[in-house]
Amino acid sequence: MGPYLNSKRHVVAVAGIVAFLVVMLGLWIVLRTGGGAADDLSPFARKVLKMGRGDWLCAESRHFICYASDASHLAAIQNAAEFAYARAVEFLPGATGGRKGRIFSVDEEMWARVLRKADRRRDGLAIQSENEIFVMQSGSTADVAVRIAHEVVHYRVWQLWGSLVPVWLDEGLAGCLGWDIAEAYRLKMGWQLSRRWGDAPPPVSDLAKLMKTADYPAPGPEAEAFYRQSEALVRAIARNIGYGKLHHFVAGVTEETLSWDAYLRDRFGFSEYDFRWLAEEYERNLTGKEDD
Ligand SMILES: [Zn+2]
Repeated sequence: MGPYLNSKRHVVAVAGIVAFLVVMLGLWIVLRTGGGAADDLSPFARKVLKMGRGDWLCAESRHFICYASDASHLAAIQNAAEFAYARAVEFLPGATGGRKGRIFSVDEEMWARVLRKADRRRDGLAIQSENEIFVMQSGSTADVAVRIAHEVVHYRVWQLWGSLVPVWLDEGLAGCLGWDIAEAYRLKMGWQLSRRWGDAPPPVSDLAKLMKTADYPAPGPEAEAFYRQSEALVRAIARNIGYGKLHHFVAGVTEETLSWDAYLRDRFGFSEYDFRWLAEEYERNLTGKEDD
């Protein structure tokens, strides 16, 4: 071997080391930013990522870091989430800093293996816990966008009030505002949306019982009734006091721990007539004559 060959081998070796360092640097940057920051993830989210066998794509946008197994799902959830968040902040104004939301788009197999058994608050095909949202990737893109809008409202409520909001109010807000946001997104995208509630309207429960619900009913008719009742009541309240004042109501009930009716009576001057109207509107919402 002549000196020429030696120096060529040397160049190849140096180039190899440089290439290796560049790849490692790139990997480090990805891990430090959108791709990882694994120290910011809950153990549960880490488990989900690990069970995805490494084929996750990740993208970071203004308010969210999204994870999905393919690029079209990734773009779809990211667009739906940013749209929903901007609307949620209009309905529920206040500080927007802090941890970005993390959204994991999970296929049905993974859902069955990991998430179905999760000991967390669940909305059937989605789970939200603090800044993490897990959404089952099934049905149409429009279906997934509805789930995301609902969960993004939960995320927004958590961002403003932590876990202090009563369950009926948290769920009612996600149901009412989440659906309105999904409707607005539908108009933008030119989609069809349909709501798949059971055939029969749920019983018009007395409100006191609804207010006392501290835990989510097990999936089934009871849970569906709870979702619909919560949403019907929050929608009735929003229509009466105005959507723009809804966040004052939430703050009053949550921060000042006023009872919901005391709040309406004292701050909004609700009379017996108003409470009667509210009860009737709640019933109208439940029995299917909602959404003019
Ligand atoms: Zn919910």
